[in-house]
Amino acid sequence: MRLTDIKEIKRLFEMSGFSFSKSLGQNFLINPAVCPKIAELGGCKKGVCALEIGTGVGVLTRELAERCDKVVAVEIDRRLEPILKETLADYDNVEVVFADIMEIDAARLIEEKFGGGEAVVCANLPYYITSPVIMRVLESRLPVSAMTVMVQKEAADRICAKPGTRDCGAISLAVSYYSEPKMLFRVNRGSFMPSPNVDSAVIRLDIKRELPLAPDTEKRLFRLVRAAFAQRRKQLVNPLSAELGKSKSEVAELLAECGIKPTARAEELSLEKFITLAKKSAQ
Ligand code: SAM
Repeated sequence: MRLTDIKEIKRLFEMSGFSFSKSLGQNFLINPAVCPKIAELGGCKKGVCALEIGTGVGVLTRELAERCDKVVAVEIDRRLEPILKETLADYDNVEVVFADIMEIDAARLIEEKFGGGEAVVCANLPYYITSPVIMRVLESRLPVSAMTVMVQKEAADRICAKPGTRDCGAISLAVSYYSEPKMLFRVNRGSFMPSPNVDSAVIRLDIKRELPLAPDTEKRLFRLVRAAFAQRRKQLVNPLSAELGKSKSEVAELLAECGIKPTARAEELSLEKFITLAKKSAQ
């Protein structure tokens, strides 16, 4: 059974009466080169378990199951159940959980199903919740070593952007606090059925084991980052003075203590500078 074959997909849809839901971000992969690459570059191998988000008809699920010890796949759309029964019938190391990834206790699921072994997340993410899903995995400190996901190309550019570049934003800083993001490869819109209006890219986030800040300083860091990027064209003293409840001259002094020019703008600051700022602003 080739799940990238359009005729095969249509047969499965007819058999179960399934039709695409745009609101659930259902663009299924039909380019046969992509899923094996996601699984390989995502670190899927013997001794590793994978959590997949959004199975569709199971095209990536099968590639993960071929390589990993165990796969747990969370899919919101129960209408896919009869299709997945057929497409995953040959794999006894796959379990599909019908649930919303934003609602489920994923840490508990991983603990229960993988029992503390090495785990990774692999997914062709539904576009409508790309950033919330990524931030949920990172912020909840899921016990996984890496997260390899397909997202819209523009989202991938923003997530992987370095400080000082136009694409750098609050999400780039937040992601690089928790992980080391890497752009893996681009995927054009013709690789999906139905074809979306945008191209995509696969990125991998290697999760950091240790984080540099205590939880309350971490919260302050993200408040400062959000405030700074909400007015990214303005010099930092302006948004930070409102956020910290300090006068502009006090903030300018604080910035100087952190080695930051008072004329600097949010996108010019490295994560390390924001971390220094979060620490010093608490003193
Ligand atoms: N992995 C398949 C592929 O590559 O062809 C499907 C990818 S499709 C872009 C996204 C999948 O995520 C869909 O099957 C959709 O139903 C599912 N999905 C959407 N929102 C979800 C949510 N909140 N929780 C779990 N799955 C979700």
